[in-house]
Amino acid sequence: MGEETATSSTGGEFSWQWARRQLDGLPGGRGLNIAHEAVDRHVMAGRGNKAALRCVAADLSVTTVTYGELARSSNRFANALRSLGVGRGDRVATLMGRCPELYTTVMGTLKNTSVSCPLFAAFGPEPVEERLRLGDVRVLVTTQELYARKVAERRDRLPGLRHVVFVGPGSEPNSGTLSFDDLLARSGDSFTIPRTDPQGMALLHFTSGTTGTPKGAVHVHEAVVAHRATASSALDLRQDDVFWCTADPGWVTGTSYGIVAPLTLGVTTVVDAGEYSARRWYGILADHRVNVWYTAPTAIRMLMRTTPRGSPPDLPGSFDLSALRFIASVGEPLNPEAVRWGEEILGLPIHDNWWQTETGSIMIANVAGERIRPGSMGRPLPDVQAAVLERGRDGRALVTDGHVRVLNSPEAEGELALRPGWPSMFRGYLNAAERYRSCFSDGWYLTGDIAKRDADGHYWFVGRADDVIKSAGHLIGPFEVESALMEHPAVAEAGVIGCPDPVAGEIVKAFVTLKPGFEPDNGLARDITAFTRRRLGPAMAPRRVSFDQHLPKTRSGKVMRRLLRARELGLPEGDISALEETK
Ligand code: AMP
Repeated sequence: MGEETATSSTGGEFSWQWARRQLDGLPGGRGLNIAHEAVDRHVMAGRGNKAALRCVAADLSVTTVTYGELARSSNRFANALRSLGVGRGDRVATLMGRCPELYTTVMGTLKNTSVSCPLFAAFGPEPVEERLRLGDVRVLVTTQELYARKVAERRDRLPGLRHVVFVGPGSEPNSGTLSFDDLLARSGDSFTIPRTDPQGMALLHFTSGTTGTPKGAVHVHEAVVAHRATASSALDLRQDDVFWCTADPGWVTGTSYGIVAPLTLGVTTVVDAGEYSARRWYGILADHRVNVWYTAPTAIRMLMRTTPRGSPPDLPGSFDLSALRFIASVGEPLNPEAVRWGEEILGLPIHDNWWQTETGSIMIANVAGERIRPGSMGRPLPDVQAAVLERGRDGRALVTDGHVRVLNSPEAEGELALRPGWPSMFRGYLNAAERYRSCFSDGWYLTGDIAKRDADGHYWFVGRADDVIKSAGHLIGPFEVESALMEHPAVAEAGVIGCPDPVAGEIVKAFVTLKPGFEPDNGLARDITAFTRRRLGPAMAPRRVSFDQHLPKTRSGKVMRRLLRARELGLPEGDISALEETK
């Protein structure tokens, strides 16, 4: 793939090598560092006074952070890390909302050649602890409130976590914690980024699989080449734009496109700390004259509820959205109705695109200027090679004698696969070499998604080949939820599936078998729900709990989630030869 070229969005020849040349690299040939490309490079080019961030607080007050200010604050944070003895490859996790300190932390971490590990603030104590432990995190930057609710009680179980830093007004560090502001105040604002290997670890993103612990996808500094190139090819982002990515900073979109890509392109990014409301969002789009908006299908569906098609667009109509030029979404299927809603109500279609934590950047997209096929994810970006592979009985790509079969006939459904070679491809799962290896076959990376391709090369999402759940755009591993359910004193066994939901795409539903002596009633269902919410947090806990004393299981005793789902949704049960005999 390295040899291949394709047409770039600017009409010339595109290749990843060409995209790499659009970046500077560290002065003196000292390698490639994301933070230099995202921040310092602009300052060195005389753009230090340009607004990098427009941070909107919950009360709508705005703080502007220039590239120059971000360069200095991130230098201070890098120096602070150094003074704490935190160095190359050490993990620095962030557990917080969208605020200027998030950007300072991530950029300072990268400057210090440490590794930035974003965590989702809506996770409960259990998933947070698990990720801190698996990531062997040295420093956690968070708020006092989130720390008290999610980490404090479990800190003893995390001996590797040396430093906890509190961000935000009203934070009072106590023993074993530090203040972000104090730390920065006593650190110098100049810092020389050390030599950085483009293949050195830069970002660690946790994602979920069907079974086992969460997987830490390792990304390297070279990923910035793809972040930048795809933001211009798939999101049509240009240097003079105001950009707004609504993704949570705890997930990969929040890093690749909420932080790295827009800064590297030198645009002004809107950073909203507030909660969603339709009025707030239209207000931000209007007040900040947002040109490019990257959001999620769940958010679009929430906006559609307040202003359905065919109704007078009173609410959006009362805001001046004339600056908007391009809208894109990612993370879950975008229904064709949503694309049309955009056209009718906002005057612009929504451009769906596809990628995953492992790919690090957008791979398949509906790009600017091409006619959208509503419901399609678009076509592979330049220098990305995708294919649909024949599947076997287990639902995954069929490998025969080490070979897979590419399905070339239009509309054939199979596992979506990509030829590795783009710069933001993950380089491994942390401490899980075998799990990483099992993602590849016959020179293809297997995505775990089922898709089809039409005669013109547009890809259409069909579903997942495994049991992971996508709820409100967040990937949830059923095993993690089942493990938490089984800690409840009444639960003997559990099976967790995703059920369709008109707004969130899917919601988490649990089926549980009770231990002898427990009665299946509403009170117990409520108690189990509350129990898992406390441990897992609202984003991951089951919304519904059903009792089932005969969960379908394989002969080896594994709950067959696929069958649970088929039965729940009235779908064909498919191959049930592995089902254990029940008496
Ligand atoms: P994550 O790794 O959390 O970003 O989730 C990646 C998964 O989200 C993909 O493997 C898909 O299952 C799903 N996904 C991402 N983008 C799309 C899309 N445009 N349409 C449908 N599903 C998507």
